[in-house]
Amino acid sequence: MADLEFFGHIVDNEEVESIDGKRFDVWNPWKREVWAQAAEGGEKDADRAITSARKAFDEGPWPRMGRVERAKMIHRLADLMEARADEIATLDSTNMAKPFEQAKHDVARSVWNFRFFADHQRDSVGEVYPMDSGHHSYSEFGPAGVVAAISPWNFPLMMASWKIAPAIAWGNTCIIKPSEDTPASVTYLGGLAAEAGFPPGVLNVLNGYGHPAGSAITGDDRVDRVTFTGSSTTGKAVMASAATHLAPVSLELGGKGANIVFADADIDNAVYWAVEAIFRNAGQICLAGSRLFVQDAIYDEFMKRFVDAAEALTIGDPFDPATNFSSLASKRHFDKVVSYVEGARDLGGTFHTGGIAEDGSWVVKPTIIDGLALDAAPYCEEIFGPVCVVNRFETEEEAVHLANDTRYGLNAMLFTENLSRAHRVASKLRAGTVWVNCFFIRDLRTPFGGVGDSGVGREGGNFSREFFTEPKAVVMQITS
Ligand code: NAD
Repeated sequence: MADLEFFGHIVDNEEVESIDGKRFDVWNPWKREVWAQAAEGGEKDADRAITSARKAFDEGPWPRMGRVERAKMIHRLADLMEARADEIATLDSTNMAKPFEQAKHDVARSVWNFRFFADHQRDSVGEVYPMDSGHHSYSEFGPAGVVAAISPWNFPLMMASWKIAPAIAWGNTCIIKPSEDTPASVTYLGGLAAEAGFPPGVLNVLNGYGHPAGSAITGDDRVDRVTFTGSSTTGKAVMASAATHLAPVSLELGGKGANIVFADADIDNAVYWAVEAIFRNAGQICLAGSRLFVQDAIYDEFMKRFVDAAEALTIGDPFDPATNFSSLASKRHFDKVVSYVEGARDLGGTFHTGGIAEDGSWVVKPTIIDGLALDAAPYCEEIFGPVCVVNRFETEEEAVHLANDTRYGLNAMLFTENLSRAHRVASKLRAGTVWVNCFFIRDLRTPFGGVGDSGVGREGGNFSREFFTEPKAVVMQITS
């Protein structure tokens, strides 16, 4: 035990143990061994973190600081992240078997989250309305207060930074509770914020389980905003908890993304993105293209090329530069994905490739299945693993109907070389983001969020400003 890493809570810029000294084990899923321990937060630890964040907001310099100065400090944090990118990526790769190059990409994207929101708040402008009554009215965007942020394990640093960056940029103080499966990189980030010179209490990290640590911060009436990324089921509990003190919520939840490939698509491009959309990060992506619809005329040719590309992925150690696909992030999650794969066999699905690795690892190979009924669980429910369920379609109307026939609505993709069809179909798809002939590309100024079971609210650019501030109208008489 002596040589295990330890990840404590970060409170007032100090790394601390839980008040009762409790810890939990943190796993390396590729090696299938415990490599670290983390502080297991309870209600008293949540209280300590909220008290710190509250004091930093009510009395500290952060919300009162000029916008330029705050932006500079956030850029300093981003500089430190860039300088330590390998170290941070190593934590995520070790903690969830993310291929190292993908983990480095996540660090770069996290850096961009901080830089983007630092500049966005610095340069943001309000509006002034001259009124015929002899008044003018303007809008002001002041910080909202203490933000409780809760993040999942699939992009440990990136998802957390997507919440923390706009929260602190707009002058709030923040408590982040990372997933209990992946506490490492977020705790490290909390240490970097202290090193960057953040005032104590601006960014606190609370480690521990969803209950009691997570629920203790979402349900506390000293918290002014709750921003959550995770499963739809937990999202509903978080919303109910925040409702007890009427804190506005932003919920980024699960998905079952539709990927539609029309016969007139550039097939090389469509195959490339179909593979990225379901096998990157071993399919543990909320935005995964897990329901693939291919037009009849190219179905067999597309399937052959898709299967070949999936089988060409190199499965292995996340730190081997040749690896682009590794194990699932935990035993619990591996068991869940296995149950869907076995279920698909029992339900008569045709496996074109994939299945469960037989070497005792927590690997589910890139799996492509068709022939499942439209009410089969592996087709309808979020598997959150490298399992693509494929269906064929004849007409554009049918494709749109199939794509929209889900409780989820986070994202959709479509591949076509027909410009009119691209616009027409994109407009009809019921999803927060639609990608045409691409995937995963984001401009942080645009809204991000989901429809139905995929979430409540939008973040990104001015949408984040709306959520993380208290917009105020000031009306001033200008005639004497
Ligand atoms: P999860 O819902 O199990 O856990 C997410 C976080 O919530 C964890 O930190 C967990 O400890 C915490 N939590 C659990 N119960 C809680 C409670 N009662 N109160 C407060 N916090 C609680 O999700 P997960 O398994 O970590 O992540 C996978 C899910 O996240 C998938 O459904 C995926 O689609 C979704 N996700 C969505 C997005 C998006 O942007 N929409 C991005 C990434 C992941």
